Amino acid sequence: MANFYRDNDDIQFLFRHTDLGELAAVCEEQFKFSNEYDYAPANAEEAIHNYDMVLDSLGQLSGDFIAPRAEDVDRQGNILNEDGSVTYAKGISESLEKLGQAEVMGFTLPHRFGGLNFPNLVYSMAIEIVSRADASLMNIFGLQGIAETISAFATEEIKKKYLHDFSAGKVTGAMVLTEPDAGSDLQSVKLRAFQDDGGNWFLHGVKRFITNGCGDVLLVLARSEPDRSGGLGLSLFVCDRGPAVHIRRLEDKLGIHGSPTCEIFFDNTPCEIIGERQRGLVTYVMALMNGARIGIAAQSTGIAEAAFRLARDYAASRRQFGVAIEKLPAVRDMLIDMKIALEAGRALLYETSRVVDIEIGYAKRLEADSRLRGNDGRDKAEAKQLKNESRKYKRYAAMLTPMSKYYCSEMCNTVAYDSIQVLGGSGYMRDYACERHARDARITTIYEGTSQLQIVAAVRGVCSGTAEKFIAELVQQQFQPEVKDLLDKLVEGAEQLKKSVAFVKDNGNEYMDLYGRALVDIAIDLITGFLLCGQASTKVDMEVAAAEDGVTDNGKTIPMRQRKAMLARRYITKNAPKIAALAELICAGDKSTFTDYETLIGPVPAE
Ligand SMILES: Cc1cc2nc3c(=O)[nH]c(=O)nc-3n(C[C@H](O)[C@H](O)[C@H](O)COP(=O)(O)OP(=O)(O)OC[C@H]3O[C@@H](n4cnc5c(N)ncnc54)[C@H](O)[C@@H]3O)c2cc1C
Repeated sequence: MANFYRDNDDIQFLFRHTDLGELAAVCEEQFKFSNEYDYAPANAEEAIHNYDMVLDSLGQLSGDFIAPRAEDVDRQGNILNEDGSVTYAKGISESLEKLGQAEVMGFTLPHRFGGLNFPNLVYSMAIEIVSRADASLMNIFGLQGIAETISAFATEEIKKKYLHDFSAGKVTGAMVLTEPDAGSDLQSVKLRAFQDDGGNWFLHGVKRFITNGCGDVLLVLARSEPDRSGGLGLSLFVCDRGPAVHIRRLEDKLGIHGSPTCEIFFDNTPCEIIGERQRGLVTYVMALMNGARIGIAAQSTGIAEAAFRLARDYAASRRQFGVAIEKLPAVRDMLIDMKIALEAGRALLYETSRVVDIEIGYAKRLEADSRLRGNDGRDKAEAKQLKNESRKYKRYAAMLTPMSKYYCSEMCNTVAYDSIQVLGGSGYMRDYACERHARDARITTIYEGTSQLQIVAAVRGVCSGTAEKFIAELVQQQFQPEVKDLLDKLVEGAEQLKKSVAFVKDNGNEYMDLYGRALVDIAIDLITGFLLCGQASTKVDMEVAAAEDGVTDNGKTIPMRQRKAMLARRYITKNAPKIAALAELICAGDKSTFTDYETLIGPVPAE
């Protein structure tokens, strides 16, 4: 019996360390729904109990049912049938049925549509847990953002048509954006949306690389304004997978074999518009993609967790030179770095999810406020403060979301590769799951926007002062004295970041693009450093296993806060010289990438 929620000390700890009561109050709008729905929680305690129970059953399902099927899913893949239908790998169909029965397919949907109405943070935990079991299944489980987008922006009629079925797990969806000539640059989407004389909308054209394009409900980005180029010519549409939607091919790909990646031809397909014309990319897809990016960060964390555990287990039992290989400094160092990177990624991911939940809470309050304005006689200063807080969290979320996607996906690739390294030759063989984890990991830095695109999005926040403000708030937390010297190092790093930003700003936008990665890396190292120091100063009373004289499983424990302080020490001490080196590089002013490109890389190879 395995439970991927209960057996994970770090998730257990963070579940208690984070103020879930605050998030529950935000989602449940001060628990007003309990008057209407008997399954809605009446207070924070009840809500947190629900989160715990649902994660517990998902953890059990992931450990006992989904994970044992993952290898077969990987080997079988999906099949495109002659009639254009797609048959999922057996394990995927079985697991989806179980997830539907467990009523976890509407994680963040409102109660009135049969959803759980849980915070994004709990959803991130859930995605991580499922991804540890089977990263490819997550691609379908994690497409709940389709329903969220319908919930946030569609008409009441469209919501009623689809959302109950999503919550019940009766339908799955797909996010249909990419085309052969429109990948990272979605502004150049061409697929045509047009209306007949009766005002009905239709879609015509090709989309490619669509995860679960064979799903029942498709959200499609299309050009509704033929005379308008760029993002403002695009609208978002929803359609059913009827006879006018043809799956032309399934991609034959490196990893996530259980997730069908489809090329789709829309042949004058009837559809309905979501929200307003021309806001398809700029508003709705941006919202959809932000949620999906957090989803990929969670998927990455789950893959890294699986890969790390395999390596940890193997290193303890594999003997060379008369000792377990984990006794060898090079191997144990690699394992510690894997584990620390994993926990740093999780810290960033969960904090981002928390900030997004608070941002959504403020947006809801602001909407309610604008409805009430002028009627309730509230003072203007209060309304202004609400607006300011809302804007602030919007900026934080806009910066942290791409940071999490970038950091966690890169981290998961490193961890998965190092997991193979720890297993040596065995790691390269299909006998062990780490080669699957490495293949599954590879896509995470590419889809939902490549790492380069995440940096483009995150660097804006770093250079506009948002990172500085966020760090200034993190500094205000209560820390235990044991991490005081670490905080000093972080504050010194923050000064180096400030200088680097100033230098970049003096050198123009192209220079900012060139050194975007270095700037974002510094900011992430600082933010995660503060978060780990915060965890080391936790009030949560939790004990974890500790070794004595190199022996584990001896019943000895230490407080989690002590372990986190050790972890923070190693993380921050190792990163401090890296931050200094990156800052030096940024401020050196080297522009050879622009001036010497052709000479350095040589000509385009002849055919
Ligand atoms: C398995 C899989 C599943 C997918 N699922 C979906 C899905 O469900 N729905 C969907 O709509 N799409 C999906 N995609 C498409 C995916 O989102 C795109 O592949 C991705 O956004 C990159 O686009 P591209 O492949 O066209 O690469 P390109 O945009 O051609 O990029 C190539 C390289 O150029 C770099 N680059 C491009 N622009 C910039 C820039 N401005 N600054 C710096 N570097 C840049 C990129 O980082 C990359 O390294 C999926 C793709 C795969 C492989």
